[in-house]
Amino acid sequence: MRGKLVVGNWKMHGGLAANAALLGALMAGWQPAAGRTLAVCVPFPYLAQAQSALAGSPIAWGAQDVSEHGAGAYTGEVSAAMLLEFGCRYAIVGHSERRQYYGDTDGIVAAKAAAALAAGLTPVACVGETLAEREAGATEAVVLRQLDAVLARVGREAVKMVIAYEPVWAIGTGRTASPDEAQAVHALLRTRLAGAGASDVPVLYGGSVKADNAAALFAMADIDGGLIGGASLKAAEFLAIARA
Ligand code: PEP
Repeated sequence: MRGKLVVGNWKMHGGLAANAALLGALMAGWQPAAGRTLAVCVPFPYLAQAQSALAGSPIAWGAQDVSEHGAGAYTGEVSAAMLLEFGCRYAIVGHSERRQYYGDTDGIVAAKAAAALAAGLTPVACVGETLAEREAGATEAVVLRQLDAVLARVGREAVKMVIAYEPVWAIGTGRTASPDEAQAVHALLRTRLAGAGASDVPVLYGGSVKADNAAALFAMADIDGGLIGGASLKAAEFLAIARA
């Protein structure tokens, strides 16, 4: 039986004082429940703060990206080994903002997932179609192409991953996929994962998840929780999503 995982993606938001307040409120309000995992993925400079605030708590933390390289002359990059030194459990890879603005191709995303896995991190690998792709009837082809690139690269290690289906048109727009729309894509991804021997991998939904729509989404058979952007910056809202 798969549990529920809710991961916050702070994106490029935060500051020492605001983070302290948010992390404190999350720790005060989060009552661990069987089969429920809560995590926050924070900007790199705040990993030490997250580690010192959350160590020993039931809330995990991680990063929003990771280098595909182990070490070397890669200015501005952060390796999986570095993330592990700060206690990270997760690293998001292939977020649509990375794909759109920073040139993360399917191949780079797959290499980042492999680097994370090799170091012992859990990659949260994101897939999702743009609005134009959905309207062209290409949703299935796009998400399977993105997933297949990762599966081909990581092989049997796929069982240690998390997948996030994030329709690009739903991220930060206030427009969310309906539970049935999301479930249809999740079922497709699950079938592909099963073919790779990884049918129990958590498949999260992301895209304008809020406290008032989380329960309906998370009730779907193949939705195992959420990757939460904007709503993860408000403790009460994020906790309500995590309990949904
Ligand atoms: C995200 O950043 O992954 C995301 C889903 O953002 P939002 O919840 O704000 O749509």
